[in-house]
Amino acid sequence: MRRLNWLPVAAVAAIAIVALATPLLPLPDPLAMDIAGRLAPPSRAHWLGQDQYGRDVLSRLLWGSRVSLGVAVLACGAAVALGTALGLAGGFLGRLAELLALRSMDIVLCFPPLLLALLVVTLLGPGAATLVPLLALLYLPGFVRVVYAGVLSVRSQDYAEAMRALGATRLRIMTRTILPNIGGPILVQFSLTMASAIVLESGLSFLGLGVVPPAPSWGLMIGAARSTMAQAPLLLLWPCLALSLTILAMNALCDALRDAVDPQRAPRPAGLRGTLAPHAPSLAPDGDALLALRGLTVEIDTPAGAIRPVRDVSLRLSPGETLALVGESGSGKSLTGLAAMGLLPPAARVVAGDIRVDGRDLRRLDETALRRLRGTAMAMVFQDPLSSLNPVHRIGAQIGEAVRAHHRLPARAVRERAVGLLRRVGIPDPERRARSFAHELSGGMRQRAMIAMAIANDPRLLIADEPTTALDTTVQAQILELISGLKRQGGMAILFITHSLPVVAEIADTLAVMYAGEIVEQGAAAALFARPLHPYTAALLASVPGEDGALPRSIPGTVPAPHDLPPGCRFAPRCAHRRDACEAAHPPLAPVGDDRLTRCIRWRDFAGTRPSAETAA
Ligand code: SF4
Repeated sequence: MRRLNWLPVAAVAAIAIVALATPLLPLPDPLAMDIAGRLAPPSRAHWLGQDQYGRDVLSRLLWGSRVSLGVAVLACGAAVALGTALGLAGGFLGRLAELLALRSMDIVLCFPPLLLALLVVTLLGPGAATLVPLLALLYLPGFVRVVYAGVLSVRSQDYAEAMRALGATRLRIMTRTILPNIGGPILVQFSLTMASAIVLESGLSFLGLGVVPPAPSWGLMIGAARSTMAQAPLLLLWPCLALSLTILAMNALCDALRDAVDPQRAPRPAGLRGTLAPHAPSLAPDGDALLALRGLTVEIDTPAGAIRPVRDVSLRLSPGETLALVGESGSGKSLTGLAAMGLLPPAARVVAGDIRVDGRDLRRLDETALRRLRGTAMAMVFQDPLSSLNPVHRIGAQIGEAVRAHHRLPARAVRERAVGLLRRVGIPDPERRARSFAHELSGGMRQRAMIAMAIANDPRLLIADEPTTALDTTVQAQILELISGLKRQGGMAILFITHSLPVVAEIADTLAVMYAGEIVEQGAAAALFARPLHPYTAALLASVPGEDGALPRSIPGTVPAPHDLPPGCRFAPRCAHRRDACEAAHPPLAPVGDDRLTRCIRWRDFAGTRPSAETAA
């Protein structure tokens, strides 16, 4: 709130204080008539004059503010509370809650507001007590729709997914991650609604559908002043002025609040503009494997029919081991990682195979058991740290959330743990950085913060999905060194997903190369780097500059879509080594000795010499 513009706050506070304190002020009775003083101009006794019945205009204006503001505040408060609850439930829970929330609002919107007002006033009679539920009902659909749209937008963000990956409950994600991010739009909607409610209350009172005379209200004052406009124009000015100034102050307040709660609107501190300070196999049976995938197949329903972007994938990862899952975009490696976390998107499902994490069959666990495993047994680091970190929470608070997802600790202990984790991942001045927002950190520091969140509960398995792709080369090396260090310190197993083989040359123990949804080559990293037995692996290795100064060669063509796979070898259309036999039948992933697997029928031809990285044009 340090960035809050206090001017509109003071203006709204002054209006509210005056309205609340009106009964205490030495004002004439707002209902007392004085026919002799009818339409009298401002005087010492009546600062704003007297109306057509000789009543004191200032007194009626202030007492009227209580009615107009009270109706607007109560109606908007009810609408925002109910609308936020319905929008959150509809957007986050989906299905029946979504249907009920949206369709019921559609029904309300079917009625023209004035017609609805007439109906309600006819049923309940005019008066402030009728106006409150009426206005709340009229404004409810706006709040439901704003909140619902906000939830849909935020829940698909990486930082919401990251909280799921850390094992946070649905309620906690809803209240701590989603709600703060849609606070801005709700405040803007609230400001518009408050202004509109004050005007509508005045309008309905003006039409005789609102506050009942002789009770004072701004709408009634405007209506009454209209008939005496020629003789006493000031009587129209005072309530109109009060109405306009109140609406203006309300809008300015909500704009200021929106800016204050959105940290990205704050100027970036000069001291934080710099970059990060210099820093820096196995195919055996499952046994003690931390992660074991067997025949994993993922299916997604599309309008064109079901596709299988991941097919028959088997991987095994032991404690202290780093397995690099490598392949181009669209090869299915990220879906494999998400399946291993039990975080597949709603449209995707596992249709075959086993997923075991620390010996537990993920496919047999319910969401509660999965949530307990996420963050403790396994954790995930996503590609883009900026979109994976919540923009409205400080870094330390987000790491604290990850800790709280699994431990009940005092706030002080959580804060200390967050700072300790930032220190552990090599962030300088961790106490200060814990108070920073994501946009105030460099890319490397954000990724370090993401890693700190992931390791907050000492998971034994870390799945890193392209964690260095968004970073420059120097920072990439620092993050790789950090991940290697974590493995050395804690014996953590790491599944490192990347599209670039050289990135993992230093840290991977085992490699699994994926192409078009299936593993095409697998084995010890050193052996694969020294002698790839699949032309796709060779092409990936040649797609970056060689240590001997060889120029990088791109792989022509693209990974085939899952619904349009070529017959036989999936890589055949891009392979310079293909023969007729390659396209005759789909090659199996065959063992070729020394814990090595390949899906190329010509592997023996490459056993003595590396396959040419040439690819079919
Ligand atoms: S099976 Fe044939 S087409 Fe496929 S990678 Fe091997 S040589 Fe190329």
